[in-house]
Amino acid sequence: MLRTGFLYDPRFLLHVTGDDHPECPDRLRLIVENLERSGLLGQLMQIKAEKAKQHWIETVHHIRYIMRFEESCAFGMPSIDHDENRICYDSYDTAMLAVGGVLKAVDAVMEGEAANAFCAVRPPGHHAEFDRAMGFCYFNNVAIAARYLQEKWGVKRIGIVDFDVHHGNGTQHIFEKDNTVFYYSIHEHPSFSYPGTGREFDIGMGDGEGFTKNSPVLPGRGDTEYRKRLTDDLLPAMSAFQPQFLLLSSGFDAHVDDLMSGTNLSTEGYNFIFRLLVDLAVRFCGGRLVSVLEGGYHLDTLPILVSNHIKYLADLK
Ligand SMILES: [Zn+2]
Repeated sequence: MLRTGFLYDPRFLLHVTGDDHPECPDRLRLIVENLERSGLLGQLMQIKAEKAKQHWIETVHHIRYIMRFEESCAFGMPSIDHDENRICYDSYDTAMLAVGGVLKAVDAVMEGEAANAFCAVRPPGHHAEFDRAMGFCYFNNVAIAARYLQEKWGVKRIGIVDFDVHHGNGTQHIFEKDNTVFYYSIHEHPSFSYPGTGREFDIGMGDGEGFTKNSPVLPGRGDTEYRKRLTDDLLPAMSAFQPQFLLLSSGFDAHVDDLMSGTNLSTEGYNFIFRLLVDLAVRFCGGRLVSVLEGGYHLDTLPILVSNHIKYLADLK
């Protein structure tokens, strides 16, 4: 039986954001330590990261933004586009490596070497727009993976499910006129949460109308509302779209312990999501799924949730 792939590279720790920044290298360090300690890491197929070719970044981002990001790092600027998007000398290379790693994970699944895969990457990607960094995100890892699947592997219909507690504005904007990529996001209601986008009436435009779906959840509604919205909104949408590959923007910041949100999702609530998404991939995509880390900032809870997620992917739970 094919194993679940796991992408990690210690160089992902070289994107240094400063002591007071929630998107810190410790997030990944603790995820990997926990997987090692539990023995789960040894049961996964290790995927090696390599830097993405710039061509693939350009399928989603403007060349001028790519160059501006590279130069800002080389020139020692403290941030790009907003104070929250901290950068250091190594941030550009780290972001290129994260994208390249996700593409290697896609290859491993498409080549039949791994059943599915989890990518423990930094920096995250779903807020990154065509021409600017946003919300700790620089390159939109998942959006680039969708274009790569289409161009390199000829996969026609890609489903993206984003369960980070924040709306993936970047991913939505990149695909909002596209009927070959379905973007679904469940997140805390934009009136209460960053970045303030992802309303229910955003359904895409032009050719892409009906290929974007948002399920905003009011603060405090937690497990019950997540179950209802995923069952009533996501499942029918995917049944109609029939994706051939599932990409996940996996955020763990909706958890009750995580101070980034007030959605109060429990550990069990997260397990419900993990089970439902694996089932979805089996039903429509022959199990083909690549999950990419976005947010999740509680340093004790994040490693547990990631481990649970991987257990569902690897069918060990
Ligand atoms: Zn988030």
